[in-house]
Amino acid sequence: MVTDGQIVIVGAGPAGMETALKLVKFGLQPIVIDAGAHSGGQIYRRPPVAHKRSYRTIYGADAVKARHLHDAFDAIRNAIDYRPNTRVWAAHAGELFLDGPDGRTTLTYDKLILCTGATDRVFPIPGWEAPGCYSLGGAQIALKSQALTLGDPIGFVGAGPLLWLVAWQHLQFGVQVAGVWCTATRRDLFRALPWLALRPRLAFRGVRQIFALWHAGVPVQFGAHPVAVTANADGPITGLRWSNGRKTSETPLRALALGWHLRSETQLSHLLEVPSVSGQHRPMIDSAGRSPVQGIYLAGDGVEILGADAARTGGRMAATAVLADLGYQQTWLDKLKSIADRAKHAQMRGFAKGLARAFPPPCAKRLSSLPETTIVCRCENVTLAAIGAVAENWKCQDINRIKALTRAGMGRCQGRYCGATLAAIVTAETGRAQSEIPEHRAQAPIYPLPFNVDDR
Ligand SMILES: Cc1cc2nc3c(=O)[nH]c(=O)nc-3n(C[C@H](O)[C@H](O)[C@H](O)COP(=O)(O)OP(=O)(O)OC[C@H]3O[C@@H](n4cnc5c(N)ncnc54)[C@H](O)[C@@H]3O)c2cc1C
Repeated sequence: MVTDGQIVIVGAGPAGMETALKLVKFGLQPIVIDAGAHSGGQIYRRPPVAHKRSYRTIYGADAVKARHLHDAFDAIRNAIDYRPNTRVWAAHAGELFLDGPDGRTTLTYDKLILCTGATDRVFPIPGWEAPGCYSLGGAQIALKSQALTLGDPIGFVGAGPLLWLVAWQHLQFGVQVAGVWCTATRRDLFRALPWLALRPRLAFRGVRQIFALWHAGVPVQFGAHPVAVTANADGPITGLRWSNGRKTSETPLRALALGWHLRSETQLSHLLEVPSVSGQHRPMIDSAGRSPVQGIYLAGDGVEILGADAARTGGRMAATAVLADLGYQQTWLDKLKSIADRAKHAQMRGFAKGLARAFPPPCAKRLSSLPETTIVCRCENVTLAAIGAVAENWKCQDINRIKALTRAGMGRCQGRYCGATLAAIVTAETGRAQSEIPEHRAQAPIYPLPFNVDDR
């Protein structure tokens, strides 16, 4: 006999929405918790209800997929317990701690599917703490959600598909794009071609965006080195100083968006003691999305950065695993669909490998040789000099010790935005591979909580 306990999904992005859709098809009523005001996650983020822009305007080539997923999720709204504007800020085995419209509450679960997505991966540039300097995701959220630009002219620096996409979206929006500085080289891109060819349409879409920027007269620089963000004494940024390896130039800007691809949002899986894959900082799951911890499943970018389509197949695969573990029988058609999902997933993993090769992060040596006054942790104002000193004096080989000694990673973002730099600095100091550096340990609360949290 099938006995269903409480099933909770964290995240209403493509992975969480697909998980819920599949569970509802089998008559289950999961609880879906999401920090956002509307379902959709990052890529299919919905604007506030009052905004009346067309799907085509907001989502471009992804408009059809966005509409289908939104409509499908809206259709099951009454069949699930959907809780928007709610954050899971802590967790331990069998229990989640929520902060939402009903104040601070707890929720028990029998099966938990973590679909927590990703955030930007950023690295410091001297002067990047000046107002007007944002992450690529921040710039895109303002544009997608509110039809706002952070400044005009705006520049983009970093590496990864989001760099080109967000720059291109700003161009389409009519904003003056003053330049795109990609730190990856053309050689990196060419070397990744065999992997990128696994999804030729997607790869071609990226090439078209680069070409459109170039054709519109936007200065596009590969192999660029951002030297410093320049700013007025009273704060706002005035430009980006950059080098192409031969000469250094400065481009005037009112805003700068930066980012080097994405990082998985793994805080909850860490709190729930899901082990990581050996030598890789990502949660361990089997081919269906089950973690080694009883009752916990993962899907989407929160496990591995594979993109929105893979988040959807991953969500369906995790739901299939939950159903199988609950003893539900699947039809032949469902079994065939699951096999197709696994095949698609493998192909997307190959493509993601290509993206990682095409757009590598800045090397550890380059980061540790930035000027000593460079702020590494923007939340707690910790400089490279302070971090370098404890790494050297205390022989710190663990970014968690550096955090304890300097407060880097202890602020509002809880290491989401400085963790990768801290790991790179320890790598450069110790000569060890980044995969050998212990991961940033998550601590509850994983988000700041309002002081009045109990009074609401
Ligand atoms: C800022 C940003 C912009 C992006 N833009 C694009 C784009 O334009 N095109 C593209 O192809 N790809 C884009 N990506 C990548 C794309 O978002 C992902 O591939 C895809 O959305 C992954 O789906 P997901 O369901 O795994 O995660 P997401 O879509 O990120 O959804 C995760 C959801 O979980 C919620 N969540 C996370 N932690 C908690 C918690 N503790 N409590 C409650 N809720 C929680 C989040 O609020 C979010 O709604 C972007 C990524 C980022 C970070």
